[in-house]
Amino acid sequence: MSALVLDGKALAESREQQLHAAVEALLTDGGRKPALATILVGSDPASATYVQMKVNACGRVGMESVRVDLPQSTTTEELLEVIGQLNDDPDVCGILLQHPVPPQIDERACFDAIAIDKDVDGVTTQGYGLMAMGEDAYGSATPAGIMTLLRYYDIPLEGKHAVVVGRSPILGKPMAAMLLNANATVTVCHSRTTDLADQVARADILVGAVGQPELIKAEWIKDGAVVVDAGYHPGGIGDIEKTGLAERVAALTPVPGGVGPMTINALISQTVESAQKR
Ligand code: NAP
Repeated sequence: MSALVLDGKALAESREQQLHAAVEALLTDGGRKPALATILVGSDPASATYVQMKVNACGRVGMESVRVDLPQSTTTEELLEVIGQLNDDPDVCGILLQHPVPPQIDERACFDAIAIDKDVDGVTTQGYGLMAMGEDAYGSATPAGIMTLLRYYDIPLEGKHAVVVGRSPILGKPMAAMLLNANATVTVCHSRTTDLADQVARADILVGAVGQPELIKAEWIKDGAVVVDAGYHPGGIGDIEKTGLAERVAALTPVPGGVGPMTINALISQTVESAQKR
């Protein structure tokens, strides 16, 4: 058996063409050119790269981006002030606050200050709650992108046992809620899980979102599973060890080129949707 490659890069590229057409349609209808505001606090090189990739994606689909780069010393109050201004700016359809922010900042308070109709990265408590209840809301971008990828490849979810390793507010928890909403039976593992290998071995669908290189071992994963790796570490290494997997699992995401492009695509797609709703 050779695993189906869940090619996020190719899917994101084809979806960008549709988004470009959607943005053009908005302009022909006399609408505003959608703008995504990006906020980067500090100078972490990886975060700066992620923001630049999102800005580049805006350009490719014909959207504006409004970049706000703030110093490492920024306080919670200063960041809240900036978010308030962007909430009030009629030209801004969506706001991305790049995670993580420096430790002196109350990140949750700042995420929750983003107006719900501009929460295109799906980071607010309200947006999470609505999504978890199955109500209309922008999903957290990484799990939303993963769901789009799974649906595109017709991966069956209903009745399947999904195991999500990681429970962060922007990834593991919303991933679990989205899979539950899709009628999977969901197990969430975290740093206090005592039998991680056994839990992973039960997964029909496995999502690795732990932030540690190859923490999840290939030998734990059962034959025929669908393997989604959200991790990215230098050298193209994910959170899941891939040795021998391609020969025995049903499908897997490449690293890079799997989850990363779909995360950006979900953000851009939700920003266009926000523009369309105006
Ligand atoms: P995070 O906030 O650091 O959360 C990591 C999660 O992993 C936590 O819930 C933690 O459990 C759990 N964990 C840590 N060690 C563990 C262990 N030994 N066994 C089981 N669980 C363990 O990370 P994140 O922001 O969710 O990101 C997760 C991964 O996804 C990272 O590799 C990150 O780079 C990647 N990511 C990718 C994208 C993308 O666009 N591709 C976007 C975002 C994140 P506790 O809750 O108990 O601490």
